[in-house]
Amino acid sequence: MSANTIRKAKKLVESGGVVKIEEDLFQIKSSTDPGKSYFVTSNTCECPGFKNFFKFHHGKGLKANCSHLEAIRIFKEEND
Ligand SMILES: [Zn+2]
Repeated sequence: MSANTIRKAKKLVESGGVVKIEEDLFQIKSSTDPGKSYFVTSNTCECPGFKNFFKFHHGKGLKANCSHLEAIRIFKEEND
């Protein structure tokens, strides 16, 4: 994962862009469009980046990721 993804993820968490809805369901603000948000679980995300990753790399043994999934990981670490 790129350093840029991690940086974006940290920013999302720090700016309060991550909201826990249920045990494994989060709402995360889009970093490119503040009026938009995505519903994210610990291994799926609605954002175009995640979907594209899945389309191009599915079945190659790679785990899809995006700044939102990474944000959840950081959020959980900080709130456990
Ligand atoms: Zn995402």
